[in-house]
Amino acid sequence: MATDTRDILIDDLTKLKAELISYGRIQIPKDIQKHISIERPKSGPSSGEKVIGLEFGGKRVKLRISDNPERFVLEEDEKGLIIKEHNRIRARAKSLDLRYHAPGQLFISIENRCIYSCLFCTAGNISIPEERLLDFVRKAVDLGNIKSVAITSGVYPSIEDHINKIERFVRIIKTSYPDIPLGVEPVVKSDEHISRLYSAGADEIKINVQTANRELFDRICGYMDYDKIFDFLQSAVDIFGRGRVMSNVIYGIGESDADMVKTMERIADIGAVPNPRAIRVNPEIKKRFERKGCRVGETNPDRIIRIAQILKKILQERNLSTKNLKTMCFPCGCCDVIPFQDI
Ligand code: SF4
Ligand code: SF4
Repeated sequence: MATDTRDILIDDLTKLKAELISYGRIQIPKDIQKHISIERPKSGPSSGEKVIGLEFGGKRVKLRISDNPERFVLEEDEKGLIIKEHNRIRARAKSLDLRYHAPGQLFISIENRCIYSCLFCTAGNISIPEERLLDFVRKAVDLGNIKSVAITSGVYPSIEDHINKIERFVRIIKTSYPDIPLGVEPVVKSDEHISRLYSAGADEIKINVQTANRELFDRICGYMDYDKIFDFLQSAVDIFGRGRVMSNVIYGIGESDADMVKTMERIADIGAVPNPRAIRVNPEIKKRFERKGCRVGETNPDRIIRIAQILKKILQERNLSTKNLKTMCFPCGCCDVIPFQDI
C-alpha cells in the first residue's frame, strides 16, 4: 500500500476505544442502568437492545448493554463511572446523553421503510407522521442542547418521493432555524436531487458508496450502478463545496485493506470525506451475509486503528479533515476511531 502511516502514534485510550468497538458490548449492573441515558434503537443492528454512550479521555463510544458477564464491565465508585476489563481499570468514563441519538446532535430518520434491502440494514416498517417528527426536532432545538441536525431516511415509496420528503423537511427546519448546521443522507438518482437539497438549506450531505468495491456493492446493496455514486459525489462537492460531502464505506464484509485504500482515495480525490464504518452485525444480519457468501465481521481492533490511520494520511495529503464537519458520524464519533479526533 502506498499510504505510510508509521508516524501516527496510538495511545492506550485509542486502543481501548477500538477494543470496545470491536467487542461491542459492556456489562452494566441494573443499579447503574437506572441513572444513565439509555437508547433503545427501533431499527439498525442494535434494534430491540439497550445502548449506552460513554466518553473517556475525550473519546466516545456506543455499546450494547449486557446483563450477562462480559469482558468489559461498567462500575461506579464515589468519583463516577469506571470501565473495567477483567477487573482491571481501563478508564474513567461519563455517560453520554443519547436522547437525540448522537451526543450534542439530533440525528433523525424520517422514514424507516425502504424499498431496497441492503444486507447490513434493518429498515423497519413504522411510519411516523411528519408533524410529530418536526415537533420532536423543534423541541430539541428550542431546549438548546443540540448543536446540529442530521436527517437520514429509508427510500420509500420511490427515490423521487424520498427526496421530496427530505427536501420539505429540511426547508421547514431551516426556515425556523436558519443558523443550525444541517446534514442530509439521501439516496439520489440525479444531480438535480443534490441541488434541490442544497437549495432547501442543507449544509452537508452524505452519499454512500457503502462498500469498498463494485462486486460487494452489487451483492450487498445493488440499488444503483456503483460508479454512478462517485459521479454523484463529484456533483455534491461541486454544489456543497469541498470537504462538506461524506460517504460511508462499510468494512468487515470481505474487502481487503487495498480495496479500502483505493476506495477512500477515490472519494477523497473528489474532495469528499470517506467515512469508513466497521460493520455491526446481529445474528440475523450475519445470516444474510453468509447466505450471500460474504465473509463478515473482520473488524478486530488493530484493523479499526489501521483503517483510521490510513484515512488520516489520505485526508492530510489532500488537505481535507473530519474536523470541519458538523453533522452525522464524524462530530458524533461514537462508532469509529476518528482521524484528527481520536488519532
Ligand atoms: S437504501 Fe439505505 S435505508 Fe434502504 S436498505 Fe439500503 S441502507 Fe437501508
Ligand atoms: S457515529 Fe454515526 S451511527 Fe454511530 S451513533 Fe454517532 S451518528 Fe450514529
